[in-house]
Amino acid sequence: MAKSSSLQTRLLHAGKSAAFSGGTAVNPPLVRASTVLFSSAAEQRDMRSRRGSERIFSYGARGTPTTFALEDVISELEGAWRTRLFPTGLAAIGMALLSYLKPGDHFLMADSVYEPARALAQGFLKRYGIACTFFAADGKDLQEKWQENTRLVYVECPGSLVYEMCDLPALAAYAHARGALVAADNTWGSGVQYQPLSLGADISIMAATKYLSGHSDVMMGSVATTQDAWAALADCCDAFGMTVSPDDAWLVMRGVRTMAARLQMHERHALQIAHWLQARPEVATVFCPALPEHPGHDLWKRDCSGTNGLISFELNRGTDSAAVDRLIDGLKLFGIGASWGGYESLVAISNMNKARTVTDWSMRGPVIRLHIGLEDPAELIADLEAGFAAIQT
Ligand SMILES: *Cc1c(COP(=O)(O)O)cnc(C)c1O
Repeated sequence: MAKSSSLQTRLLHAGKSAAFSGGTAVNPPLVRASTVLFSSAAEQRDMRSRRGSERIFSYGARGTPTTFALEDVISELEGAWRTRLFPTGLAAIGMALLSYLKPGDHFLMADSVYEPARALAQGFLKRYGIACTFFAADGKDLQEKWQENTRLVYVECPGSLVYEMCDLPALAAYAHARGALVAADNTWGSGVQYQPLSLGADISIMAATKYLSGHSDVMMGSVATTQDAWAALADCCDAFGMTVSPDDAWLVMRGVRTMAARLQMHERHALQIAHWLQARPEVATVFCPALPEHPGHDLWKRDCSGTNGLISFELNRGTDSAAVDRLIDGLKLFGIGASWGGYESLVAISNMNKARTVTDWSMRGPVIRLHIGLEDPAELIADLEAGFAAIQT
């Protein structure tokens, strides 16, 4: 900028060209943008004409170099053609369903899904003319629930709260033979322990809020697809102006670098505590697919490369809700709160009667979900011991 410009103008233009030489930082830069500038009218026209099919930095709502970098990491994790990011995991689920379904369509949703996904199917999507039928978490009644207008099968494997497994390759073969797509919520697997796209799904959804972020301080969702399923998702996201803050993407990127290492520690601690819980007289069942007693254990062994920090347990039938509250309130190292996937341990009560409709849970004891964090597992066990002692008093 010429020195003759006014201070006001110089202030707006200073510091915009590269001011140093040297190496590069380890991490990609955080780029914040709404407006993106082009060198000429022709270049802008060219970029706009190509951005529908190519990933071009053209406007903040279409993504920034920071969000593109995170998309690439997630595509790598999921073995996907490409990935889009969403402000929450639930937004990712909603946008995926809207991308592939239209009024008049029917879809099948597994009984094991994250409860707000169920609410979306039974509320908004139903009112919008998209019908949903719930099928057994292990897929055994898929055939009998199939309809002529079934366009999508939505699974979550392992399922929320009690980690039911389904035979995804078999289910995908059945759906594909009838011209339907398969979407999977892969939040449990995080692309490390489970990879739905390699097992036949077309669409894989994750709440990056959980293990990818890993620090309980950012919300985000992702949808990764095969090449064939990509265009419908991209069109829908662009139509709705779906994007995420580059600051949030940068935080998730920081978390994801250590995810595989964190998961190994979560798994080790969780298995230790799962075995300890199995020996407790107050506990009827411990839910974790890595346990040989788990109904989906063989499928877990075939399709998953490990487990994570999630375990749930069923207290003996007849344990009343005041005793459950005493157990939870008796824990000092477990935070009482929803969500999971951060470095810390959490406890939450699961209402299985509300969370499942195909499987009847009414005759079973209360279910408590633990997220086992990176704390010393011996201290977590001592804490649980104190919680169990509080049941009796
Ligand atoms: C937490 C969770 C979600 C939703 O993620 P948010 O970012 O909290 O909206 C979706 N699916 C599963 C399985 C989850 O555990």
